Amino acid sequence: MEKCNFKTYLKNFPSKDGYFGQYGGAYLPDELKPAFKEIYHAYLTICKSASFINELRRIRKEFQGRPTPVYHCERLSRKFGNVQIYLKREDLNHTGAHKLNHCMGEGLLAKYLGKKRLIAETGAGQHGVALATAAAFFGLECEIHMGEVDIAKQAPNVARMKVLGAKIIPVSHGAKTLKEAVDSAFQSYLENYHDSIYCIGSAVGPHPFPMMVRDFQMIVGIEAKEQFAEMTGELPDIVTACVGGGSNSIGMFVPFLDDPVTIVGIEPLGKGKELGQHAASITYGSEGEMHGFNSIMLKDKEGNPGEVYSIASGLDYPSIGPEHAFLHDIGRIQYDTVSDEEALEAFFLLSRLEGIIPALESSHAVAYAIREAREVNATGSILVNLSGRGDKDLDYVIEKYGLDYLNKISK
Ligand SMILES: *Cc1c(COP(=O)(O)O)cnc(C)c1O
Repeated sequence: MEKCNFKTYLKNFPSKDGYFGQYGGAYLPDELKPAFKEIYHAYLTICKSASFINELRRIRKEFQGRPTPVYHCERLSRKFGNVQIYLKREDLNHTGAHKLNHCMGEGLLAKYLGKKRLIAETGAGQHGVALATAAAFFGLECEIHMGEVDIAKQAPNVARMKVLGAKIIPVSHGAKTLKEAVDSAFQSYLENYHDSIYCIGSAVGPHPFPMMVRDFQMIVGIEAKEQFAEMTGELPDIVTACVGGGSNSIGMFVPFLDDPVTIVGIEPLGKGKELGQHAASITYGSEGEMHGFNSIMLKDKEGNPGEVYSIASGLDYPSIGPEHAFLHDIGRIQYDTVSDEEALEAFFLLSRLEGIIPALESSHAVAYAIREAREVNATGSILVNLSGRGDKDLDYVIEKYGLDYLNKISK
């Protein structure tokens, strides 16, 4: 890996059939195979087309507000000593998080393919909102499958999707949450793939989605590397990001793979190490297949996807993108965990010291930077991908924990 050149890496990973080492692939029912092949071939053609690239560039600049800045947290850094903490501000991307980066790419692909509808599932509603935004921009229909339990829990995001013109399909079987919503969205895609495209919410799922989402998210790391060099004349010592399915992190990390930089992905430890208390898939999981791809996942005693939990609903996924599993195995990326409590402390410290309220997901990566900065005699710089803003989490945090608790833990 040390000698592996970044351009060669992208050429070789994934392989033609979608593998990163032993991970990835496309485990699909026969009826869906042609649909995913169509997406793959269209993407291969389009990602080299000047008109596609120019259009995406224009959208990123004029609609999304890119490039998002890199920001030096001087007060936060000073509080702990000599480590300099920097943020890549994806919270300032339109809609307040990184997810729009791949949704706009997927929407543009649908447009080029002549499809009229975007189909997806959503859990907490963040992916649904980003996709509904893309659909409105491109003048496409949008169908979002969502468990009834999640619909009840996520009223503001459901309202956002409706205002943006999306059609919500409530899913009322099983546990009525994300897993059932995935099944329902796949079923609808099976029936409608002639005029629709399925849009995944992270760097997961069957080939070519982990590759496409990575490619669309790589703008984050490409911009950040250039901006950081402009500010400091150097590379950061550590680059870090939170890992749910792995999209904001893989986009941040891949452009640094060929550099002498320590890369650390942060998984949610939730309330503890027992199955059901966390969603640290790579830390505690093992190889397995779910949702159409092979990777490292958390399993129950029967070998089915294990129960997961995190204070950050965007991180509670029992598997991880196949590229992460590969980069973990070859030792290029390290993975570490951050608990609910540490994430809450970071949420509050960043708000108080810098005037930036981070998403609870992103707070996990900030917490890791704080932990490193607290080490005795620590020096150097850490670049954190701040994947989203925390407005969506405010009511929950205040209601569940209260200001007194937050004041106490962030002393
Ligand atoms: C969805 C989400 C995540 C987790 O998804 P990844 O695919 O792992 O990036 C992280 N941060 C925010 C703000 C999110 O909305």
